[in-house]
Amino acid sequence: MDEQKKSALEIIKSYDGPKLRIMEVCGTHTHEIFRLGIRKILPKNIELISGPGCPVCVTPVGFIDEAVLLALEHHVTICTFGDLIRVPGTKMSLAGARTEGAKIQVVYTPLDAVDYAAEHPEEQVVFLSVGFETTTPSSCLAVKNAKLQQLDNFSILTANKTMPNAYQALKGSADAFLYPGHVNAITGEEECQKLANDGVISGVIAGFTAKELLTALAVIIEKSKTGRPYFVNCYPRVVRSYGNPAARKVIAEVMEACDSEWRGLGVIPMSGMKLKEAYKDYDARIKFELPEIKGKPNPACRCGDVLQGKCKPSDCKVFGKGCTPQHPVGACMVSNEGSCSAYYQYGME
Ligand code: SF4
Repeated sequence: MDEQKKSALEIIKSYDGPKLRIMEVCGTHTHEIFRLGIRKILPKNIELISGPGCPVCVTPVGFIDEAVLLALEHHVTICTFGDLIRVPGTKMSLAGARTEGAKIQVVYTPLDAVDYAAEHPEEQVVFLSVGFETTTPSSCLAVKNAKLQQLDNFSILTANKTMPNAYQALKGSADAFLYPGHVNAITGEEECQKLANDGVISGVIAGFTAKELLTALAVIIEKSKTGRPYFVNCYPRVVRSYGNPAARKVIAEVMEACDSEWRGLGVIPMSGMKLKEAYKDYDARIKFELPEIKGKPNPACRCGDVLQGKCKPSDCKVFGKGCTPQHPVGACMVSNEGSCSAYYQYGME
């Protein structure tokens, strides 16, 4: 163990100040913190809360319903990342739609979906575009690519989200945020710095290794002792202050901000992304004239409360009983980044 990690460990283990609630905004942080056993070394007065940074978890039920409608009624081929297939919709998941004859293709990138559309001109292909600032650029590139190829059988169903307004919506949920390093690699530091400067919420940008996570937690502890708002980039090897201007440029060219529904958080103004007018031919909602669909989550599921840090996954009555990774009732149990899945996988109560 090197000296820096030991020092961070000492800071964390010896903390005996007031209760400190730290939200891991990012689902990958949640899982890495579990996997590395970091929760087990935290003193009782440090509470980690799992936040909404898992794209599958925050995608609302109505989006799954829209995808099911496209697959079963419009007979389009749905191209999607694997996790979304098992997320329950109001009546069924995409896996359920598949058993009723829907054509569902798992892809690893949005460009794979464009390739699929080019190879299958007889099919209408819709890519389910979910994710945050990290994955949105590749959806934009896919749309540009489809336009370049003049494909008229490719479109995307957007549920892309951006974090800044979600931070505002969650500001009372924690004393500090562990900011998602890969999102900040695109957006840079400015928004997070501003949140601290304005006294909205403190936080640090964290990486994903044990050393980076322990350092970030130790910095939160030390900074919180001052009683003043703070922001620190603890992931400078990847996150530059200016982020990734090329990725932001492609987003700005193809998409624009819109209001967006988050599972559990409701509609957060200007927290989503939709295709601009110039690319409307690639917008599945317009192309297939989808009606507005209001999804209904299973009333037993507390994903909404889990995502806001209002309860732990194990506080949900069906956790580990009616709801398991094999038979998920809610999205937080499906995704590898979901907190219910992490609690289940690592046997936490
Ligand atoms: Fe929803 Fe299952 Fe988590 Fe309960 S345990 S909140 S039903 S995903």
